[in-house]
Amino acid sequence: MAMNLIPNWLSMRAQLTPDRLALTNGQELWTFLQLDLLVRRLTTRLSRLGINDGSRVAILAESSMPIVAVIHALTRLHAILVPLNPRLMLTDLETMLNDAEPAVVIAPSSKVPSFSHTITIEELWDHLNEEPLADPSFIDLDQIQCLMYTSGTTGQPKGALLSYGNIFYSASFSAIHNGTLASDLWLHVMPLYHIGGLSIIFRSVITGNGIVLLPRFETDEVLEMMSRYPISLMSLVPTMLYRLLSANKPFPTSLRLILLGGAPPAPTLIDEALTRQLPVVQTYGLTETSSQIATQLLHESRIHKNAGHAIYPTDVAILFNHSVTHKPHQTGEIVVKGPTVFQGYWHDPDQTKAVFWHDWLKTGDIGFLDENGYIHVIDRQKDLIIRGGENISPTEIERAFLAHPKVSDAGVLAMEDAEWGQVPLIMLVTTAPITLAECITWAHRHLSAIKRPVKYYHAETLPRTASGKLRRIELRQMWQNGAFHEIL
Ligand code: ATP
Repeated sequence: MAMNLIPNWLSMRAQLTPDRLALTNGQELWTFLQLDLLVRRLTTRLSRLGINDGSRVAILAESSMPIVAVIHALTRLHAILVPLNPRLMLTDLETMLNDAEPAVVIAPSSKVPSFSHTITIEELWDHLNEEPLADPSFIDLDQIQCLMYTSGTTGQPKGALLSYGNIFYSASFSAIHNGTLASDLWLHVMPLYHIGGLSIIFRSVITGNGIVLLPRFETDEVLEMMSRYPISLMSLVPTMLYRLLSANKPFPTSLRLILLGGAPPAPTLIDEALTRQLPVVQTYGLTETSSQIATQLLHESRIHKNAGHAIYPTDVAILFNHSVTHKPHQTGEIVVKGPTVFQGYWHDPDQTKAVFWHDWLKTGDIGFLDENGYIHVIDRQKDLIIRGGENISPTEIERAFLAHPKVSDAGVLAMEDAEWGQVPLIMLVTTAPITLAECITWAHRHLSAIKRPVKYYHAETLPRTASGKLRRIELRQMWQNGAFHEIL
């Protein structure tokens, strides 16, 4: 079998920049050499537990330094990493565990699922320095590295298979796209069970940039870390940026780039960030493309409200009327081809077949390319509301309302209607009481008649994923259960 080998990226990194900061949580600190040595000991321990080439290993934990080391050790063993959200309800977790059928689950002792082969992180760490160092190994770029579940905002989460090559090219080309400095330091607050968070772990080693790691996003802790370390890079979802801006605290001058993605950001949020001199750029990607497809360059965020250019050498086009086009202003499904496109869905050849159009990956997103080649994402195809035959984007209605000074979050649903087929209704989270008249006036000013909601509801909070996406299925259930009060 032909192999596509490169040296293990962590061992290479430990040789190149042994003393550079690799990882800190604000208390402990590991250089790349220390990380590599720990990982090599962990590799020995994990292999003694029977984990080897191709074993699927589920990880059920919030971000921590030991978990990052475990992830690198699994890479060294050529095991397949299955990162799962530790905050999921037990039933959802069981669905994923039954689907992934991992050989072993690694979890903190505080959260051990009823799964027969569970190892706690504490057990792995016990007397670790007595373990011999595993030999540096090679990485086969064609091998599967990770089985990652999508966020499931349009249905059941799907297990996307990502190869080492997918991860490697994604990390390398996104670093080339926005540039990398030897002094760059990440503030990592994204969950590891989403591709946006996991990819930073590998990118840090490939490009040699350290990480300040937080287990979750807490505004005060993020601001504290920013005051303690010369953070230059951050990846945030819109909700996180909103919270940081609301804290009204100064940001460090070391900040060089904030990648904002995962969900459609409100234009007002970007305006506010830019007014506060934050180096924010929009980025667009999917689990199935190993994270970023397109990202703005810094100067572009001031001029355009879009997702930027495709990251070389990814090709992005529009599928319209059964053909693929690069023609500007043709709205259709965004399709992608390139080295970061995934290897298929686990156990599911039918879904895999259905997500490709010839050799193009269908993103499920509706959008267009403009005359400068910038990608504009309009909405998820499945979320479109069809009112009297016209397609309406719920995101566009939400964005219009997010620009209202009293609205802090907004979610739109389709309601069945005898005359129109479907009509939009909107749930609003507000910072001050809002009247129906105010809502209607705002809709008249900012939305054409067909896009105006027919009903307005007050919501305390809206269900969002850790990647900032609205869970429309849950939102619908809440609405049906009467969780929201109509604004009358
Ligand atoms: P599922 O397919 O299970 O419903 P999902 O597609 O929501 O899950 P992810 O892979 O986490 O799971 O999310 C990818 C989607 O996130 C994209 O297809 C797109 O709709 C949305 N997205 C990501 N970044 C942006 C962005 N900058 N602007 C608009 N939408 C974005």
